[in-house]
Parts: sequence; C-alpha cells; structure tokens
Amino acid sequence: MEKKKSKSRSSFLLEKKVRRTIREYGLFTHKDKIGVAVSGGKDSSALLSILKKLNYNIMALTINSHIPNYNAKNLRILTKVTKEQNIPLKIYSFKEEFGYTLAQIQKRLNSKGYDYQSCMICGILKRHIMNKYSKKLRLDAVATGHNLDDAAQTTLMNVFRNDFNLSLRQKPISGVIKTKSFVRRVKPLFFVPEADLKRYCKDNKLEVNFDTCPSSGGAFRGIFKSMLNKFEKDHPSVKHNIVKYQQTMIKNVKTQEYGEIETCTNCDEPSSTKLCKACTLIDKLKN
Ligand code: AMP
Ligand code: ZN
Repeated sequence: MEKKKSKSRSSFLLEKKVRRTIREYGLFTHKDKIGVAVSGGKDSSALLSILKKLNYNIMALTINSHIPNYNAKNLRILTKVTKEQNIPLKIYSFKEEFGYTLAQIQKRLNSKGYDYQSCMICGILKRHIMNKYSKKLRLDAVATGHNLDDAAQTTLMNVFRNDFNLSLRQKPISGVIKTKSFVRRVKPLFFVPEADLKRYCKDNKLEVNFDTCPSSGGAFRGIFKSMLNKFEKDHPSVKHNIVKYQQTMIKNVKTQEYGEIETCTNCDEPSSTKLCKACTLIDKLKN
C-alpha cells in the first residue's frame, strides 16, 4: 500500500514539474496543436502519455530510419499505444523521403569519402523530416523527449567546444521563434532526470522500448554521459545544478532578438548557410 502511494506520488510530482516547465517557459497552451516526436523509447513515450493526461491537443509523429532490430519494434509499440490512447499517429520514413535506409545512406556517403557518423546523419535527416511535416500539418509546436541528462551533457559539450552561441540556444524552447519556415521545438522534460522517466514508465506500466538504439554511439556525448553519471552518484544534483547554472547564464546574457532567419535555397528550411545541412548531405549522397 505504502509503495503504491509513493509510486503515484512520484508520478504526480513528475507531471507537476512538466506542467510548471510548460507554463513558466510558455511552451504552448491548450489552444495549440502539438506534434509529439516519438521514437518508442521511454522519454518520448512518457511525454506523450503525460501530455495526453494533461488534455493537450496532441498528435504523435515518428520517423522510421530502418535500423534493424530496433525501428520495427518501436513502430509496433507506437501503433498499439497510440491506438489505445486514441492519439493520431503519423509515420514517416527515410526510404520514402530519401530512397534509402540509414545504413544505405551511411554506406554510400562513406564510399564517396565522406566520414559521417550514423547518429549524425540520422539526427540531421530526422530534424529535416520533422520540420517539413510539422509545417504541412500546421502544428504550433513540436515537443521532443529531451531530458535533464541530455541538457546537462549538451551544456558541458558546448563548454568543451567553446561554443557559446550554441549554449545560448540550449533551453526548453528553441530560440528561433519568429519565422514561417520553422515550427518551434519545445522540450517539456528539460528539467526531468532520465532515471525519473524510467521509473515513471515502469510505475505507470507504459509499453516502451527500453533498448538503446544500436546505431547510436555518438562517442563524444557518451563520454559526458558516463562522466556525469559517475559524478551524480557521489554528488547528487550535479546534473540539475549544471542545467540551472546554464539557464541563469542565458537569462543574464543580453542576446539579440532572433529575427527572420535565412532559409535554405533548395528546401526553404531554416539555415544559416545557403544549403541546409540536410540538403548538403542529400547532395553528397546523389552526386
Ligand atoms: P535522441 O536524440 O535519440 O535521444 O532523441 C531525442 C528526442 O528526439 C526523442 O526524445 C524524441 O522526441 C525525438 N526522436 C528520436 N528518435 C525519433 C524518431 N525515430 N521519430 C520521431 N522522433 C524521434
Ligand atoms: Zn535544404
């Protein structure tokens, strides 16, 4: 009985934290149409379930990059879960968009002498598809399952690379808001630790794929992940403190308002260069 009570109490506190982030950072309102980018993993599945519980107007969007022993399982779970919860699900795929699976894309690029990590290709192309369809669907925002651990890792990575500008954009709502070519990206789980999300999924018996993506392995991020996990054991709150420190810094740094940003001459997606990262990659694939 006691255990049951503590289970529902910790779930309640987690949901409360998400509600507070949405409100304090003005991520979206109940009038907005929200796309939830779901992989089938614990973070985005927990997010989907929480936003549904909080009565937001949501739909689920997922991208199949055709990773063996991974994507098919995710799609099975997502199809079932969204049907049960009565949430519309849109499925997009690398094959339909680009004509190749992720593995084929990497192989072709490598054979042409380009040294792209599979995780990097996947990230660039997924963002491209997500932005393209969220505009078509006329969504007000796309929510991802990025959590506190991701935010702490990214903050340290930016310090190690001395990337101050990127660091200023690391917050629960994307810096680029005022543009027709970009649907704002929001991270309602920004202050929720990964371990709490794992527990939330278990406590609420959510059907999720707990496997890690076999194609992931951004070596650089992996170093920060294990370093922070080691630190957190001896110094609880380290991850939280890093993220809070970074948010305080952002608030105190005067930044220029992001105005209308430049777009890719080929696909009209936002880009600081003439051709966006996705179009550059696809160009290399074809030529
Ligand atoms: P990751 O970079 O794999 O940790 O994923 C970060 C976030 O991106 C997840 O929490 C999801 O919101 C989103 N995401 C990752 N993979 C997919 C996918 N295949 N389809 C849709 N969204 C995804
Ligand atoms: Zn482009």
